[in-house]
Amino acid sequence: MRDSTVQSKIRKWFRKNKRPLPWRGEKNWYYIWISEVMLQQTQVEQVIPYYHKFIKKFNTIERLAKASQEEVLKIWEGLGYYSRARNLHRATKIIVDNYNSTLPPIREELLKIPGFGPYTANAVLSLVFNQPYGVVDGNIKRVLSRLFAIEDDIRESKTQKKIQQLMDNLLPSKYPGEFNEAMMELGATTCTPTAPLCPVCPLSKDCQARIKKLEGILPYKSKRAKIPTTRSVACIVYHQDLFLLVKRPEHEMLAGLWEFPVFKLNNGYSDSGFNISSIRNQFNLDISLKKSWPAIKHTYTHFHLKLYSKLFEAVSSEFQSELYEDYRWLGIDGIKKLPVHKAMWKVLNTTEAELEAIAKRYIVDT
Ligand code: SF4
Repeated sequence: MRDSTVQSKIRKWFRKNKRPLPWRGEKNWYYIWISEVMLQQTQVEQVIPYYHKFIKKFNTIERLAKASQEEVLKIWEGLGYYSRARNLHRATKIIVDNYNSTLPPIREELLKIPGFGPYTANAVLSLVFNQPYGVVDGNIKRVLSRLFAIEDDIRESKTQKKIQQLMDNLLPSKYPGEFNEAMMELGATTCTPTAPLCPVCPLSKDCQARIKKLEGILPYKSKRAKIPTTRSVACIVYHQDLFLLVKRPEHEMLAGLWEFPVFKLNNGYSDSGFNISSIRNQFNLDISLKKSWPAIKHTYTHFHLKLYSKLFEAVSSEFQSELYEDYRWLGIDGIKKLPVHKAMWKVLNTTEAELEAIAKRYIVDT
């Protein structure tokens, strides 16, 4: 297989078959950067509406730099992997203040900026400045592991280094950005995880996996260890017609997002063995239990969450907790204006009718 043959086949195929994505052909580095950050670990179809919303609200880097973290997280709400949004926001302030709102086209400089790991730096430098850096995302890993029939475990770092090396070797010096894009597109639309469309693939004659009939088996991925299940209670506490919301602390998962206070349960918890006094102690709240709901389920990368919802009435609006850095008492509309994470949205959707009724009842009675 000759590199130049692969390069020209891919290029021809891409020019004819590329999907018209909103950031494709974009010249503004800021928009390309936003799209690359959003696309990490996220499907194109999910990203498109977020991309439009985001660049409409923050159409320049200065606007994003000036926004509050709460505004940024609200726009990102539902897209997941929120550290991407927090880093993007932190990075804009650094680029505005230290680089005069211009992206430094130097890899070593970029790697000093939050959120710019090797992948993002390579992607932005090749797509915006046409610099010869190969990008290796999940799609490209799959294409290359099949093209070269790599039978090593794709989760291992030495396999990933090997794939990066193959990508760097394949990269044409004249159009590295377009080649990166083309390889990602081939993985997304043709060399798909299951049932790759080999008969219409431009590389079908060069592909070692196809020649060896391994295309349905590769890439080889070792099984992940079973992930544990965590059980917690979303404590929906109300006082009069308002509900208590707390902000998740910095350096914690989902930092900056809001939720009803969460009480972590010990293993072996059953709903009947629930102990209200430990919740009173943890949050220094004088509360009484009014209602319980079955648990909602939510899965994160490293664990499954079973989140029970319980409704409590508080005697006063005093609240104190070392776990949370900020809190607010809010009506339902106020809650919806905050950036709230997905598990908490599930809780809110399950309990909303009851919460609305509490708020209305209080207004009628007073
Ligand atoms: S021939 Fe099939 S397996 Fe090989 S790169 Fe193309 S789509 Fe993927």
